[in-house]
Amino acid sequence: MPLSPDQQAEIDTQRATPSQTLRAVAPGMEAHLYTAHEVLDHGFVRVVDYMGDDAAICQAARVSYGRGTKSVSNDEGLIRYLMRHWHSTPFEMCEVKLHVKLPVFVARQWIRHRTANVNEYSGRYSILDREFYIPAPEQLAAQSVVNNQGRGDALQGEEAARVLEILKADSNRAYDHYEQMIGTDGQDGLARELARMNLPANIYTQWYWKVDLHNLFHFLRLRADSHAQYEIRVYADAICNIVKDWVPAAYGAFEDYRLGGAILSGPALSVLRRMLKGERVEQEDSGMSKREWREFMEMVDN
Ligand SMILES: Cc1cc2nc3c(=O)[nH]c(=O)nc-3n(C[C@H](O)[C@H](O)[C@H](O)COP(=O)(O)OP(=O)(O)OC[C@H]3O[C@@H](n4cnc5c(N)ncnc54)[C@H](O)[C@@H]3O)c2cc1C
Repeated sequence: MPLSPDQQAEIDTQRATPSQTLRAVAPGMEAHLYTAHEVLDHGFVRVVDYMGDDAAICQAARVSYGRGTKSVSNDEGLIRYLMRHWHSTPFEMCEVKLHVKLPVFVARQWIRHRTANVNEYSGRYSILDREFYIPAPEQLAAQSVVNNQGRGDALQGEEAARVLEILKADSNRAYDHYEQMIGTDGQDGLARELARMNLPANIYTQWYWKVDLHNLFHFLRLRADSHAQYEIRVYADAICNIVKDWVPAAYGAFEDYRLGGAILSGPALSVLRRMLKGERVEQEDSGMSKREWREFMEMVDN
């Protein structure tokens, strides 16, 4: 269960207590504020706070005295221009603070994004919960034979059942030992900071993660992508849904120019131009390596 009844009650209380402000608010984001969106079997993403909206991006770009808004279509055009031309600093004027609950092995990938501010739940100070990520059957997949960094088809039958059993048993055994070691009944009890070291990487951790919109888009482009591991991608997808409601114009531009767009190398662009003129081009005379060519063809032939 991602949230206990007590935690949900705390969130409900917070949501039921509006406060007045002179600051700009984004109605789409107000609807998300504090709500925990469930991810994986015990995880969630929830917005704790945010700053700015689409208009704030235009306000900064125009270094305006007022809200910066000319008209919605004018603003959208400006935002799309900024995104198209990699004019990134106006997007840094928007910020979001998220509370995320995620398995430790996902956190290890996530923390590589250095341009955020992070504060993590302390396993030295607090006792960790008995909560482990156990993949849904369709995610319990075999090693991919075409991609060393990926998975193939789902395991079947007895093998799937055995793997699931191993994951559950190992997690529980490690947690039983953790409890035994920190227990103080008839013993001193090992320090929490040491006892945690035998816990597996599928145990859940939590953190507050604050990032500006430019760097969040960078994170989402990498992690909401099909090359990203499923377990981090589902968090990125959940965040995409939030950002779409927060800054619809900026998200639309991000979707068109980054998520759905592609960058072409010089040789790839010249091959595309030759193809558009009706020339038949092969990898051998493309100026591209075999791998580049394959990726290029996947891009244009999709
Ligand atoms: C599909 C996938 C597979 C991956 N596989 C691996 C792997 O096998 N092994 C592995 O170690 N990592 C791997 N990574 C992590 C990856 O290499 C990056 O570390 C991660 O995506 C964070 O990207 P970033 O550094 O651009 O982001 P951020 O840390 O958010 O940085 C954003 C940008 O700020 C700039 N920047 C930030 N800090 C510095 C700095 N100190 N110096 C210079 N410029 C800086 C850079 O321009 C950077 O692109 C993988 C990532 C993905 C998406």
